[in-house]
Amino acid sequence: MTTNRTFTMIKPDAVGNGYIGGILKMMNEAGFRIVAMKYTKLSSEMAGKFYEVHKDRPFYGELVEFMSSGPIVAAILEKTNAVADFRTLIGATDPTKADAGTIRKTYAKSISANAVHGSDSDENAQIEGDFFFSKLERF
Ligand code: GDP
Repeated sequence: MTTNRTFTMIKPDAVGNGYIGGILKMMNEAGFRIVAMKYTKLSSEMAGKFYEVHKDRPFYGELVEFMSSGPIVAAILEKTNAVADFRTLIGATDPTKADAGTIRKTYAKSISANAVHGSDSDENAQIEGDFFFSKLERF
């Protein structure tokens, strides 16, 4: 069953490049409602835990270092079919392969510094949202 919610982060590259406003505008215009949001910075321990599913992949160390290199925006978003529709909005992991009009095509520089995170399943959306937000922080 779909929860109609997904979890996103605007990653350190996009924050550092001044793209928070542009990315939030694309999310809003695509029909996503903000349920929860915060501007924060991950420690390397937190980034390591968040991306634990990737710990055996060769880029894990680089990913953890990058995701803890500067502030991020974390958010829970709501829309019918949120997980799949948000994956469509952000585009392929590698921005050179992302479709025109996607967030990654517009704002990402490389496969590692790829501007945004989007949950890949309803189950992970729930787990990832719970990683950052208490019940009292959701509206
Ligand atoms: P996503 O679901 O599209 O974010 O992609 P994945 O779940 O496969 O990977 C998680 C994140 O790891 C990506 O968003 C990238 O930031 C990073 N990543 C994926 N593949 C690579 C890679 O080949 N090299 C590096 N350096 N980072 C990668």
